[in-house]
Amino acid sequence: MYSIRGLGACEEVGRSGFLLDFGEKFLLDYGVKLEPGGIRYPLDVTENIKAVIISHAHLDHSGYLPYYYKKSEALSFMTQPTLEIADILWQDSLKIADFEGAVPKYSKDDIIRTHKYNFILPYNKELHVTDEVSLQFTDAAHILGSSITRFEHDDKSFVYTGDFKLEETQLHSGTIIKEKADYVLIESTYGDREHPNRKEVEKNLCESVQNTIEQGGHAIIPAFAVGRSQEIVDILTSYNINADIYLDGMGKKVANLYLQHSNLIKNPKRLRKGLKEINWIGGFGDRKKAMKKPSVIVTTSGMMKGGPVMWYAQQILNDPKSKLHLTGYQAIETPGRMLLEEGKLPYGKNGAIVKVNCKYEKFDLSAHPGQEEMLRALKKWSPKKAFLIHGDKDVMPIFEKSIEERLGIDTEIVRADQKINF
Ligand SMILES: [Zn+2]
Ligand SMILES: [Zn+2]
Repeated sequence: MYSIRGLGACEEVGRSGFLLDFGEKFLLDYGVKLEPGGIRYPLDVTENIKAVIISHAHLDHSGYLPYYYKKSEALSFMTQPTLEIADILWQDSLKIADFEGAVPKYSKDDIIRTHKYNFILPYNKELHVTDEVSLQFTDAAHILGSSITRFEHDDKSFVYTGDFKLEETQLHSGTIIKEKADYVLIESTYGDREHPNRKEVEKNLCESVQNTIEQGGHAIIPAFAVGRSQEIVDILTSYNINADIYLDGMGKKVANLYLQHSNLIKNPKRLRKGLKEINWIGGFGDRKKAMKKPSVIVTTSGMMKGGPVMWYAQQILNDPKSKLHLTGYQAIETPGRMLLEEGKLPYGKNGAIVKVNCKYEKFDLSAHPGQEEMLRALKKWSPKKAFLIHGDKDVMPIFEKSIEERLGIDTEIVRADQKINF
């Protein structure tokens, strides 16, 4: 008998952590959840673990791993880009904790220890972790280095999707599902809805940016550091936006990794060309210069929770010619969400809430599958049973019902600290 136990990302998005037991136990992801009130963590791992799998670098999947390696001596497996991007995010989390006067859950030494127990596993290489269990990564097409993990034990197969994308995006061709699976643990982020046509959203974004420039304003584009910043640059440069485009914030560091691993990107030549064409902001002097005439600024953070975007936003707050272009999910209680719902933003050192007089709009460029995409993926795997994770509480039952009604696949929502035998 097998079992699965949820440690986090159960009826919520964030702090992923799942224990999969084939007789030997595996930890699938170990992340954190960044909330306005502070960081939330998954449950502690108290069992003996054979190995840890990290599906991709986003902090909600990798952010708690250095804490786990305070004590553990289990091996961990991930792709090379996942390790390199996660390392940037771990180091940055320590810096933020220091800046905010918070006590971090792990130290620089714990990060070094995490590297020591890590093994790089490239895509499409089967690895026998034990005599009975093998695992294999395939490209999940969510961000650089993201993987779908396939375990095999005896004649049974088990797929953990992590975060994935079936449809093509600007940087990735979409994941390819070749084999069926007996059991699937699937993300449910957008299990209750569809995304708008992506090409159309890209076109609308570019037209809005070009209009803003033509009216003499600044087009500010808050974007996540990992994936979205690089994707926006690729979109803008391939649409031949006629303006000075700048890249600022942590997206620059990550862009260098995208360049190093560009063989994993759909159109590496185009991405390299785009990133070369634009201006990389080096320091505060560059920032001021970039704001001297109409310009496009791609910068972190994506939900406007700190980062250089806050400085840029303050420059255009009262300029009706300029526009803020939000490009991703805006969590509850973030400034980005406040902007969309109330047309307000925090301003100045003490964060007084002020009305925004520039334009703003959200462009839905998700790196997650919509409901139809997920149903198509599940049809290909056609498992005996699907387990749902990584979705909001009110989304899960809608997705569960759709899977059972449309595909007739037995489906169960994984709840926190609940063990499911199968
Ligand atoms: Zn992700
Ligand atoms: Zn995630």
